[in-house]
Amino acid sequence: MTTFDYIVVGGGAAGAVVAARLSEDPNITVGLIEAGPSDENEPRALQLSRWFEMLEGEYDLDYVSVEQERGNSHIRQARARILGGCASHNTMIAFKTPREDLDSWVQAGATGWDAETLHPYFDRLEVPIQPVVPEHRNPFLADVTTAAQTALGVPGVGDWNDGDLTTGAGFFPMAYDPATGVRGSSSVWYLHPVMHVRDNLTVFLKTMALSIIVDDSRAVGIEVRASDGSTFEISATREVILACGAIDTPALLIRSGIGRASDIEALGLSPVIDLPGVGENLMDHPEGLVIWESTAPMTDPRVSDWDAGILARVDGENGFPDLMFHLPLMTFGVHAERLGYVLPENTISITPNVPRPKSRGRVWLESADPDVAPKIDYRYFTDPAGYDEAMLLKGVELARQIADTEPMKSWVVREVFPGPDVVGDELAELVRRTNHTVYHVSGTCRMGSADDPNAVVDPQLRVRGVEGLRIADASVFPVLTTVNPMVTLYMLGERAADLIRQDSF
Ligand SMILES: Cc1cc2nc3c(=O)[nH]c(=O)nc-3n(C[C@H](O)[C@H](O)[C@H](O)COP(=O)(O)OP(=O)(O)OC[C@H]3O[C@@H](n4cnc5c(N)ncnc54)[C@H](O)[C@@H]3O)c2cc1C
Repeated sequence: MTTFDYIVVGGGAAGAVVAARLSEDPNITVGLIEAGPSDENEPRALQLSRWFEMLEGEYDLDYVSVEQERGNSHIRQARARILGGCASHNTMIAFKTPREDLDSWVQAGATGWDAETLHPYFDRLEVPIQPVVPEHRNPFLADVTTAAQTALGVPGVGDWNDGDLTTGAGFFPMAYDPATGVRGSSSVWYLHPVMHVRDNLTVFLKTMALSIIVDDSRAVGIEVRASDGSTFEISATREVILACGAIDTPALLIRSGIGRASDIEALGLSPVIDLPGVGENLMDHPEGLVIWESTAPMTDPRVSDWDAGILARVDGENGFPDLMFHLPLMTFGVHAERLGYVLPENTISITPNVPRPKSRGRVWLESADPDVAPKIDYRYFTDPAGYDEAMLLKGVELARQIADTEPMKSWVVREVFPGPDVVGDELAELVRRTNHTVYHVSGTCRMGSADDPNAVVDPQLRVRGVEGLRIADASVFPVLTTVNPMVTLYMLGERAADLIRQDSF
């Protein structure tokens, strides 16, 4: 069968939710097109503790960027090509979308995405979400969060998802089953229970969407390529929903002639509609790094290595955080080592990041060949006022203060990176040259009001100028969430399904 009422393209964090919810109605048919294989028999994807074995492996598209004007040019952007998408290889930190972020979305033209409307979707999610359970709490992390409370004057937090987001230090809410260690991906909790049961849901695995078929300004199907190299068309009688993520959704649109007309013509393609916002507004959380030699190895227990953190406010008195720190149990020191730093056997680290970055980057194509990777330019630290760089430097300063405070202080032998003597301009340059991604790329098909020429989708997630085409993934974020975005993608998938169902009556 190759004709469905709805086609969902991409079975990742959001797409899996959309396909599962739409197919709840046995009277409608849904085709889900996923470029990767199933995660059902892949223990590295199912067990959250094994996430790092997936990074830069056979499922990872592992995108690189163009040379960065100010930031790190050596970042490898993990994008998982497997059912569940990046939710099948990420670290499952699970924050409900903060009210303040949704206020920003509404201000940016995303009418109807206020907290009153979106927060009820959090309670509807099928995935298990709770703060790291007591038996999985690492004693070192407990010490760092205690030190942070003293050093930064922030409270200890039991559950960040209970009420509105506040500053504080503590173990994160995580999407996992504490009894089995199974990750809280949307594929495991939304698709696995139904994909072999529902006759009206067909999942095309290892099937890559090459282009959107548009007939008289209406999306009517997808041209795909199966794993044996054959190409064929899958038709949609009602709608096509794109959920390929913030890099691959704009790439698919541009390959289909939907984007800035001059860029599309330069690829030798015919523009279907001139949408200059496609690929623009790329956002990510730039992340810094401080490494110390530790008195002892970091031992278990642990859930995903990224189990705890700190949210602080440094700019003004508002109680809403503007600086975040992850407290990894594994040191990701590759960018320091590239510059010649030699890491001792036992290390600990803190990674500050800028939760509300002001720099904006871009995604585009230099070839219409679907096997040629899209071009990515993060443009980290290019905001004219220098906010992103100043905030990250503040984060490094505060990380050093935390490490100098008991009980963390007793774990520290010496600062290894950047090194205690590295300050001022030298520190700023080093922080820029070694910044990392938090893998939160988003915003490249941003949502906005129906009359905003740079918006790609309207508040109903409909692509401007093309009937029957929506987007439901991280590319539609008008503003990046202050915290880790995965749960927002789940909530967005739930709401997208509701918006689609409402329109079908
Ligand atoms: C290493 C890592 C760690 C992370 N840790 C966290 C965390 O702890 N907490 C958190 O909140 N967020 C985390 N994130 C971010 C989070 O996982 C992403 O923001 C989220 O998964 C994005 O969801 P999405 O639906 O937009 O896209 P994805 O989840 O990336 O899904 C896109 C899907 O589309 C498929 N696809 C792409 N192109 C095509 C095509 N042409 N044809 C068919 N299918 C296609 C892909 O195979 C994939 O399955 C992390 C990300 C990474 C990479």
